[in-house]
Amino acid sequence: MRKRTVAVLGATGTVGQRFVSLLAEHPWFELTALTTSERNAGKRYADAAHWHLTQAIPERARDMTLVPTTDDLDAELCFSALPHEAAVEWESALATTGHHVFSNVKTHRMDDDVPLVIAEVNPEHLQALHAQRKRRGWSGSIVANGNCSAIGFSLATAPLQRSFGIERAVVTTLQALSGAGYPGVASLDGLDNVVPFIREEEEKLVEESHKFLGRWDGQRFVPASFAMSASCNRVAVRDGHTEIIALTLRGSPSILDVSAALHSFRGKPQELGLPTAPRCPIIVRDEPDRPQPVLDRDVERGMAVIVGRIREDEVLGVKFVALSHNVIRGAAGASVLNAELAIAEKLI
Ligand code: NAP
Repeated sequence: MRKRTVAVLGATGTVGQRFVSLLAEHPWFELTALTTSERNAGKRYADAAHWHLTQAIPERARDMTLVPTTDDLDAELCFSALPHEAAVEWESALATTGHHVFSNVKTHRMDDDVPLVIAEVNPEHLQALHAQRKRRGWSGSIVANGNCSAIGFSLATAPLQRSFGIERAVVTTLQALSGAGYPGVASLDGLDNVVPFIREEEEKLVEESHKFLGRWDGQRFVPASFAMSASCNRVAVRDGHTEIIALTLRGSPSILDVSAALHSFRGKPQELGLPTAPRCPIIVRDEPDRPQPVLDRDVERGMAVIVGRIREDEVLGVKFVALSHNVIRGAAGASVLNAELAIAEKLI
């Protein structure tokens, strides 16, 4: 297969660094551009990025010269980890000039012709790209990724929505510090603390989950309609969002049936053997004290959701704990997987 040229937009940031590490040696992609704000343009990537991953900066990226974000980047695909204001300026401009943008940013997620995709959950939403190009007159496209907590929730509940149907959902999140980017939460706010508020997070978690778990009817997205309540908290964890989820499912399935539906879940990425796909998108743990961020977030290279403590809930019916790596499964890894899927399905 011909390698596609790719750019990372916002390459110096938390999500940008993950993109660089996932794309530098990717079998289908060749990294040709790394973008930055004006302040770092012209600098060598290794000098400008405050690198904070445990693995070294990939050789391929180390000496690349950072360029400002523009609409004439030398790349067929653009992976966007831009701040919202920069995404407003550049993402649709890049799609207009023929680039295929895979975005982590909130800017276009809820647009009525932009697919918001988790590759295992709602791959059919990518069909909206035909309508998007027609309506907007773009030769390129935009595919969005969800908010990191919405991806964790929607991947962990998709098999239950599919097998039984969700009537009601209550979710409480314990979200990692890296979800706020770098430097993100001030150390004196983060250490030894729980902050019971993350701006716009609860709204995004609810509306994006409804879009993920809804359907594309050929003309429009029809959101899932279950009642959902979310409470989001920032906790002193470096990476990995934990979500405590309680659901009412149609037909009140047994705990064994719920567990089996989660355990056996596979999607298109697994069927197609895509390079970034986890073998198992949902890993069910039986131990009473798992999942834990420090032990479980890197399983399947950070691309699985780990579910544990599946049990009956007296109020809603069933409850469990789900953990996902917010910067990999909840951001860069999910976006790369979406691009692989769009290529495999010949949509770009
Ligand atoms: P971050 O650590 O603050 O990084 C953002 C980067 O964008 C900075 O390195 C900034 O630095 C660069 N930048 C600013 N203006 C730019 C421009 N015009 N062109 C190119 N680069 C520019 O934030 P982040 O956590 O990586 O988040 C990036 C995006 O992903 C945000 O929209 C966020 O909401 C979303 N997101 C984050 C997560 C997460 O877990 N962190 C998860 C899902 C989605 P320079 O000045 O060095 O260029």
